Amino acid sequence: MSASPMKLRIGNGYDIHRLVSGRPLILGGQRLDHPQGLGLDGHSDADVLVHAIMDALLGALSLGDIGRHFPPEDPRWKGADSLELLERVMELISVQGWSVINVDTVVVAERPKLKPHIEAIRAAIAGRMGLEPSQVGVKATTNEGLGPTGREEGIACHAVALLQQS
Ligand code: MG
Repeated sequence: MSASPMKLRIGNGYDIHRLVSGRPLILGGQRLDHPQGLGLDGHSDADVLVHAIMDALLGALSLGDIGRHFPPEDPRWKGADSLELLERVMELISVQGWSVINVDTVVVAERPKLKPHIEAIRAAIAGRMGLEPSQVGVKATTNEGLGPTGREEGIACHAVALLQQS
């Protein structure tokens, strides 16, 4: 019996960005209000959720990470809209003959409360990926005051993506 060709691939992504003053807080392309007016620092718009998703998608096809595809030293990506970068990653995946079954994510943040924004975030991400919101899981948890996310030094995100050969 010959080995069947691989039809499914799974990818894992993780990202963290510092919370600082004087920056917007953007998650899933949505601008949120932090109770202390803090936002995420980074070369692009620092959308930690979309960055984790992109790394999961790239990882599923062993295509490296977003640092390789969108190097921070490249001025083209300064202040970049991460949802536009996500569209580029989706293009890369589809050119290689793959499509996304689903993605699932966990945002680790003490504040702000993400629950009121979850549906808008899912819709925005799914729209840019050409998926239904039901294919995009976005969950939020605090870190119970522990570690850098618990001390509100930053916001982190974990993501997984499942791809199928299309
Ligand atoms: Mg990042």
